[in-house]
Amino acid sequence: MDFKFTPKEEALRKEFSDFFKEEMKNAPPEWGTAMESMLSRDACAKFHRQMAKKLGAKRWLSRPWPTEYVGQDAPLTEQFIFSEVIGYYKGAGFDHWGVSLLAPTLLVSANDEQKKEHLPYIARGERFWTQLWSEPGAGSDLASLTTRATKDGNDYVVNGQKTWTTGAHRADWGFLLARTNPAERRSRGLSFFLLDLKSPGITIKPILSLEGSHMFNEVFLDNVRIPARNRVGEENEGWMASQMTSNFERSMIELFSLLERDFEDLVEFSKKPTKGGDVPVNNPLLRNKLAQLALEIDVGRAMSYFILWSQIKGGLVVAAPMACAAKVYGTELMQRLIYAGCQIMGLYGQVGESRWAPLKGLYEREYQLCVGSNIAGGSSEIMRNIICSMGLGLPRSW
Ligand SMILES: Cc1cc2nc3c(=O)[nH]c(=O)nc-3n(C[C@H](O)[C@H](O)[C@H](O)COP(=O)(O)OP(=O)(O)OC[C@H]3O[C@@H](n4cnc5c(N)ncnc54)[C@H](O)[C@@H]3O)c2cc1C
Repeated sequence: MDFKFTPKEEALRKEFSDFFKEEMKNAPPEWGTAMESMLSRDACAKFHRQMAKKLGAKRWLSRPWPTEYVGQDAPLTEQFIFSEVIGYYKGAGFDHWGVSLLAPTLLVSANDEQKKEHLPYIARGERFWTQLWSEPGAGSDLASLTTRATKDGNDYVVNGQKTWTTGAHRADWGFLLARTNPAERRSRGLSFFLLDLKSPGITIKPILSLEGSHMFNEVFLDNVRIPARNRVGEENEGWMASQMTSNFERSMIELFSLLERDFEDLVEFSKKPTKGGDVPVNNPLLRNKLAQLALEIDVGRAMSYFILWSQIKGGLVVAAPMACAAKVYGTELMQRLIYAGCQIMGLYGQVGESRWAPLKGLYEREYQLCVGSNIAGGSSEIMRNIICSMGLGLPRSW
């Protein structure tokens, strides 16, 4: 087994890293946790948009896409390296929903007109997206959703409520699942739409997180008109497109890179004397904890590399059970890392401004934020169900 990248790929990694190292010097001081910064804090949201345009100008957001849609036909491995680097810099300029989820789905499922209308904006970092799927009564069991889209002339009229909609208050457009056939209660009656969030009839209400930040929303759709040309795929066949989106979401390398970055900060903190003179790494129990975390982060990275390899060799479906495993492992590891960080830093982990607290309360904020990480994008229990059925070949239990 040879994990080495080619000299060309290593040169690319350096180019990406050099760019971010330089540009992140302009990040607002409060830039810290990935999503919380870019979605909740105005200065960070502005910086995030500026970075997106810079990445777009370099055509780095669309490298693997075909050239006719502002892409470069770059191999999957190069995109993976880009994701690895951008994860380390906490996603600055990367609209995960547009670039990672929607764009690949459009490339597979949209018609030519839709691709031409949306992909260039995503590629240039000019149009940000949100995912309008979950509802108060439909999360894990998404196929039971009840938001209704009724055909009326050349439009669909949409009524319903979405919830947990990450970043809806910052986004320009949303991709929506709605029921077009009310007689069909399950997935066969659903359609996939692209929704301009400036359309009349949309109300976005914040759901505040434990520590007070605003990342999530409830979105109410009240007689919202969507032109029929914004339906992706055939009517009542949106489930297939939505499952494509789910498959793209889960290679997880950004997360393992982000964890590595947080871990490096923790190790740096642990090497220095605290106010009372103690050096955390002199405590053998803490050293053990750090060693264990280093090991687990490396395992996670290896899982992501394996997913990349499986995707290249066998395609998205073959890689799906491993991608689910990486989602479970990565999000649960994130929680272990953050809990350990809080233990190691003690009260210094909670202090925002002090020369004794160089991480400015980052771990304490992440402690509160990471609770939802193994629910978002499919809960750990659902991921384990998929590992059982698709990975181990066990009979479905639901
Ligand atoms: C931080 C965060 C961000 C999110 N962002 C978005 C977003 O941007 N857009 C969006 O559309 N949605 C978003 N979601 C919603 C997310 O997709 C759902 O919360 C998730 O799918 C779980 O659905 P639920 O909350 O309805 O819980 P439920 O489905 O009601 O599940 C409740 C519990 O039961 C378990 N469970 C359910 N079914 C089974 C089963 N068959 N077998 C075993 N256990 C089961 C679950 O694991 C969970 O522990 C977000 C959620 C969170 C927490």
